[in-house]
Amino acid sequence: MGIDLFKQKFGYEIQGMWLPRVTAITSIISKFPFVLKETGGFRDRLAWGTQVHEFVGGMLQGSEHEALEYDPQLVPIAAAVRSWQKEHDVEILDSERDVERRVHDQEQMYAGTVDAVARVGEKRGLVEIKTGAHLAPEYLLQTAGYSNALMRESGAQYDARWILRIDQYEECEGCLAKRRRRGHSSFLQGGLEICNHQWGIPKADCEFLELPEYEQDLRAFFAAKEIWEWHNRNHLRKIMNYPKRHVV
Ligand SMILES: [Zn+2]
Repeated sequence: MGIDLFKQKFGYEIQGMWLPRVTAITSIISKFPFVLKETGGFRDRLAWGTQVHEFVGGMLQGSEHEALEYDPQLVPIAAAVRSWQKEHDVEILDSERDVERRVHDQEQMYAGTVDAVARVGEKRGLVEIKTGAHLAPEYLLQTAGYSNALMRESGAQYDARWILRIDQYEECEGCLAKRRRRGHSSFLQGGLEICNHQWGIPKADCEFLELPEYEQDLRAFFAAKEIWEWHNRNHLRKIMNYPKRHVV
């Protein structure tokens, strides 16, 4: 990979510095071989994730844009997000700034984009939106990295990190298998193989989790950053506006 592509893919230019993205750093602990096995489906999942992010981001900013009208798969998500907001007393304090908010840490040299900064009940913190059936361990590191950058950059104290996992699926009325549709692919889980599935209307569930061990997760994030820098040392050495002290 050429150095320009590397820079564009894995980092941001901020105030004259090149800063690697949080998600590039945490990819070092994701289960990459597993992902590679399902190439076509993986791309569809990514596209679906992006679509849900844009849609929910829009909702949090107070606009439920036209997407709903042409994509019926988003309808149950809108309902689930609305009831999540109500149940947990969620408020976006500054809808212009706090959705898809770019944060960076000049000292530790990294940057990222936080899905939402919110008040949830009595606490303030960041909400990371995830789609899909499972919580991946790298989310713990990712949100710790964001949280640290958010606090350093704003000089404010934030109490919490949350994951809002949005799972959208159809369920077979006979055997209770779940089908998750992601673009042109679909993925079946559970149920019986011999069933002649009768799919019900699309449903969505929200799972909302507060992540408890910030200090521990942040240490692991910085450790992942070291490994990521070591892994990419040959590229990083060529990036003039990335300080050498961070390169092994
Ligand atoms: Zn079935």
